[in-house]
Parts: sequence; C-alpha cells; structure tokens
Amino acid sequence: MASAWEVVIGMEVHVQPRTRSKMFCGCAVGQLGDKPNSNVCEICLGMPGVLPVINKAAVEACLKTALALGCEIPRHTKFDRKNYMYPDLPKGYQISQYDLPMSFNGHLELGGREVRIRRVHLEEDTGKLIHAGDKLHKAVESYVDLNRAGVPLMEIVSEPDLRSADEARDYAMALRTLLRTIGASEADMEKGQMRAEPNISIRRSGSDELGVKTELKNINSFRALHRAILYEVARQAEVLESGGTVRQETRGWSDAEQRTFSQRSKEFAEDYRYFPEPDLPPLELDPAWVAELRRALPELPSVRNSRLVARHGLPAADAALIAADRELADLFEAAVAAGAPARQTANWIVGEVAPTGKLPSVENLAELVRFVSEGAITRDQGREVLVESVETGRRPSEIVTEHGFVQLSDESELQAIAEAVVSANPKAVEDYRGGKKQALQALMADLRKRAPQANPRVASGLLLKLLD
Ligand SMILES: [Zn+2]
Repeated sequence: MASAWEVVIGMEVHVQPRTRSKMFCGCAVGQLGDKPNSNVCEICLGMPGVLPVINKAAVEACLKTALALGCEIPRHTKFDRKNYMYPDLPKGYQISQYDLPMSFNGHLELGGREVRIRRVHLEEDTGKLIHAGDKLHKAVESYVDLNRAGVPLMEIVSEPDLRSADEARDYAMALRTLLRTIGASEADMEKGQMRAEPNISIRRSGSDELGVKTELKNINSFRALHRAILYEVARQAEVLESGGTVRQETRGWSDAEQRTFSQRSKEFAEDYRYFPEPDLPPLELDPAWVAELRRALPELPSVRNSRLVARHGLPAADAALIAADRELADLFEAAVAAGAPARQTANWIVGEVAPTGKLPSVENLAELVRFVSEGAITRDQGREVLVESVETGRRPSEIVTEHGFVQLSDESELQAIAEAVVSANPKAVEDYRGGKKQALQALMADLRKRAPQANPRVASGLLLKLLD
C-alpha cells in the first residue's frame, strides 16, 4: 500500500490567541470547566441591536503569527459574515474573514523543507452543544453553553504539502512551538486552544492529479491526529482498491473506537453567503505597527535549530528535539555558556531532562554534566544526582560529597576486581576468547555489581588486557 499510493494532506489549524477577552466583546475568554454560560453578554449571545468591537490583542497575536510564518500582510483587511444555522450559533452567522484575510503566502520550515501556508486569518469560535439523556427511549435533551461563543480563533491554513501522518503531526508540533515561542498562544490542545483539521486524499504514486479529499474535524491531540490520518489513508486505499470511489465529506474521529466516521457529505458546495460584516469597519493595518511587530519577534525555532547544529555541533535529531521546546533550548544554551560541554549537555537534556519535564537550574545542570564528562562520577551516579538536585534544588557538588559518590578510576584497585571477575566467569571468558565479543558485556555487568562506582572505560580496558 505504502508504495502504490501517495498521501496528500493539507491542514487547517484553529488556535486561540492569548487574549483576556473575546473577539468582539469584553467577556472573559474563561477556561475549560467554567460554569456554563457564565462568560456571556448581549454581544456574544447575538442579541439584536448590539455592536461588535475588534479585539486589538487578537489582531496583534494573529499578525505576529503571520509574520513568524513569513506571510505577506496587506494594508487593508476586513471581516465577513459566514451564514449558517446551528443551535450553537445564536447570531445565525459567524464573523470570519473571507476574501481579504489578514495575511497570506507564508511557509513553515519542517525538517529542512518548506510547507506553504496559504493564509492566517481571524474569526470567532461558536458555542457548544451538550447532549444528555437516554438515547434508547429518545428522551435526549440538548443544552447549549455559549462560553466559547465569540472566543477569538486564528485559522492557519496550509497548502496540501504534507505527505504522511508523521509529517502532519510534526507540522502541528512545529506550529505549537512557534506559537509558544512568539507568545501568540499557549496552543495547548488538551485545553482546546488548538484544534487540527487535516484534509486527506491519496493518489497513485507518480500521479499529479489530486484525489478526492475527506476532511477530519476538530482533532484535539497530536496522537489522535496521527492515528486518524493513518486510519483514513488505509480506509481510502481500501475503498479505491476494491473499485469504489472516495466521497468528498467531513468525517469525525472516534478516539474510543479508533476510527473515522462520516459526519456530513459535501456533494454540494456549501453556500455560506459570505458578505462583509456591516457592523465592523474595514481594518487598516498600519505598516509602521506591522514593522514594529516584526522587529519585536524573538528568534524563531527553525533559526535556533540551525544554530544548535552549526555552532554547537549537535546531531540533527537532538537539535530538533531541543529547539522544539523553548525552555529546553534556553537551558541548553545557558548551560553551555556556563562551561558545560555541548554534546554531553544535549545528551543529558534529551535523555534525562526532557522525559521527566522537570528542569534543573542552569548552574546545577552545567556542574553535573561537567562531573560526568570529566569522569568524577559515573553516569548512573549522575542520574541519581540529577533527580535529587531537581527535587531539592541543591548543588550537585553537595549531593556528590554527601553520598560519597566518586568514580573509581584507580587502576591498581580495579585490577584486583577485574581479576576476580575473570576467574568467576569462566564461561563468558571462554566465549569471548572463542570470538563472541559480546561476552564482554556480561563480564562488565558482573564488574559493575562488584564495583558500581567503577569508571567503565578504565574497567573495560583492564578486562580486555586480561582476556587477550
Ligand atoms: Zn460577550
């Protein structure tokens, strides 16, 4: 299957910009778990006769995002009404942007290549329906919570440049890093601040034509995004290989059943009867303001990634992982500036710090990495010191002294232990001499048991001398 079909994915990602209030009124954006309908007013409830006001902080976050994605920013932009009827939309329309979006023609760097960004625009979120009751007896009751109605959303639309579920997930993660780095959004998928909507089609390898696409709605975790795409690609391939045709439709993802399911067919193009929002003036974007926002952008993750490789000589995988997290990247560079060797520091951050999510202080990490790389303590001891240092905030030097951690590098002391190991393991010795070089590992394991603080390099050298 993988070779017969090429996967084509475009992504729409909705992100809640970091603002205190909603898109067009003064209501708090609130948070998950707020009492239903507690953050509402006549504007976001869609009462007649009210006037929306554009939230400047939302526009600023959207412009920063667009600039960080290398988009063009027009002088003039406007909001439009997207008309449709649904119970979670009290106005009967959503304020969005149609033909004059706030930005267009950008790109996001992903693993050394560019994913084109079609546009980044602003709109408002809708409310939420909550269904309760007994489906079997058709006594279902539906409630509406309008806390989310009017919450600002940036919509980031990519061109269909992604070619696999892995790439789509990496793209979403890179976007999250970028948004956090520039402070435009916390982009926490678990809190509903970021939702992905991939549109997916497949075509025969080598073909230039696009296949019929399906769109997956409201995916709210990286894991679900990855799995939903894998499922959808396999489903489409099965349909096509059995002689069927893929229907253009919107599909949902069921996490419980690990499958996509049809939501609504798109056989007829939707007619939202867009027209300019008459209650809002067109928005003039002052070039001086845009230039100021551009100047104030921090270093972007892709630039940092290249620097980690070029200046510090990190392997690409380590650099990517560290650059993808601003806190880790800051920690890495500060520790190196404090005198820790770069590659070992990266190694500790990737292997020990990142998985726990608990960061040591810069000084403590630098000291620990130095101890281990200079051979003062073993790597195992170093791990213990790190855990304790993160928990208590104490200096590694204190912890090392207190535990009596030292690395035993003295050859005369280690010699006796190595000899004991060799005489206690005749089978492994015989294997080694017979050509099974991996038997050395068994001998090293026994040696570590007898002398946990042994310097592995010195100890294995002594063992090898005895064996040869
Ligand atoms: Zn309101």
